[in-house]
Amino acid sequence: MKLKRREFLKVVGAATGALLLPPRSELIARASSDSPCDSKGVLVDLTKCIGCGWCQEACSQQNDLSPEEIRNWSVEQDPLPLSANTWTLVTFKEMEQGRVFAKRQCMHCVHPACVSACPVSALEKNEYGAVVYDAARCIGCRYCMVACPFGIPKIEWDKPIPLIRKCTFCADRQEEGLEPACTSACPTGALLFGDRAALITEAKARIEEHSDQYVNHIYGKDELGGTSWMYISPVSFEELGFPILGEETVTGLSETVAAAGTPAVALGVALFLSSIYYRSKSKTGTHAHAATHPRE
Ligand code: SF4
Ligand code: SF4
Ligand code: SF4
Repeated sequence: MKLKRREFLKVVGAATGALLLPPRSELIARASSDSPCDSKGVLVDLTKCIGCGWCQEACSQQNDLSPEEIRNWSVEQDPLPLSANTWTLVTFKEMEQGRVFAKRQCMHCVHPACVSACPVSALEKNEYGAVVYDAARCIGCRYCMVACPFGIPKIEWDKPIPLIRKCTFCADRQEEGLEPACTSACPTGALLFGDRAALITEAKARIEEHSDQYVNHIYGKDELGGTSWMYISPVSFEELGFPILGEETVTGLSETVAAAGTPAVALGVALFLSSIYYRSKSKTGTHAHAATHPRE
């Protein structure tokens, strides 16, 4: 594969950045110690991502998926083209300083709207913070698809009895004491797996120590009450097409969807929830070139 000069410089830059970081084993230890919380997470450092797609490849192999040939998807091509066979995707945005890449997948929310929207508990949050799916319980209502503010769960449209598919946070690997396949495959240290609380400490330290390299925002620390996957970035998340969301959880509304006595009420609330997602996406478009706003 031929690299353009700018991409080559980015690879070298990211590799140099990776070299400047402490060894990976030390980083994992830092992200896994002194935390009273069992909930796991991933810190995605976008200054280290080179868009190689190894994380996508690892996910496909781990989960026996046949993903569509979508690699390095431009954030201008809304919406995020995840599918029943593509659980994670590396997106990019052309910026003055070169491409900024961002791996996207289920955020494994601390208060998952999909879980509270599901009327039969087919989606549940496990002890490590992974939001996992039990196909045997699923009745195919698709409330989870409507409730998710990130547009993540997808259905197998081509199957006679379609199931919901999405990233599992490699819950089975975590049960065995392993980190997710994607984080383990990342060659630059852009994906750091560990205790969520320790990852927030690590993210704050990186932003504080290198304030010239990051915007002052840990995406996922507070959005919708927090998510297990969190991001730090050299440019604003609005510019990268991330939904702009408040700190309030949407689980209360989702529960209303599940508890709604009539399909009409359920549909009304469901439409409201999906409008949160689409409103945030259109805000993203509106502010595509806005200046970065420090948040903390
Ligand atoms: S990102 Fe969506 S699918 Fe994933 S846990 Fe949150 S609400 Fe559920
Ligand atoms: S955590 Fe596992 S399922 Fe999720 S994107 Fe990574 S490899 Fe795929
Ligand atoms: S493997 Fe790491 S560096 Fe490569 S695209 Fe995925 S997150 Fe980025």
